Amino acid sequence: FFVSFEGGDGVGKSTQSRLLGEWLGAVTGREVVVTREPGGTELGVEIRRLVQHGDHVDPRAEALLYAADRAHHVATVVRPALLRGAVVVTDRYLDSSVAYQAGGRELAEDEVERLSLWATRGLLPDVTILLDLDPVLAEARRTGEPDRLERAGYGFHRRTREAFLRRAAADPGRWVVIDAAGSVDDIQAQIRVDVAARLDL
Ligand code: C5P
Repeated sequence: FFVSFEGGDGVGKSTQSRLLGEWLGAVTGREVVVTREPGGTELGVEIRRLVQHGDHVDPRAEALLYAADRAHHVATVVRPALLRGAVVVTDRYLDSSVAYQAGGRELAEDEVERLSLWATRGLLPDVTILLDLDPVLAEARRTGEPDRLERAGYGFHRRTREAFLRRAAADPGRWVVIDAAGSVDDIQAQIRVDVAARLDL
């Protein structure tokens, strides 16, 4: 199985993907690989640093850097794991590019999607979990210094959220939308119910 978590900044994707990974390992008895984008590989860590620490990155350059991270991640981590029968849970995947680079940065959605599908040779998750939260609430939960992307402003994050919700509505067979305003435990419990139903566990 291949499961992706999507959503804005500060909605709890990394915590929820780790917890779901632990549970999927227990119920399936399979190896579980919990990974992330950007930065799920050594090369990806460098790309993540490049794309996050400049003052300005041209939107097309940004889209290409995320696509490069994803291509390497899929080729060296995700696909090999799926081929050996592991369950893969990734914190962000190609829908983040469509939401951030098309929704947020206002590039053409079909172009960003085609770039991502080219990078991944068409690999899509079996289930994508959208942790949906108003960016104002997400901002209030955040700790630490914001990075360049987090400083992008409310309009950027609102467009990104709308793009995620639009994609989820357009493909309900792949997407599960979860209200991320609850407690960690309640959200995880709801994710498990939905994932069990989708994956026939
Ligand atoms: O969620 P994570 O901390 O891994 O995301 C890193 C940053 O990169 C976030 O601030 C997110 O807004 C941004 N990002 C982006 N476009 C993507 C993926 C992540 O702008 N395709």
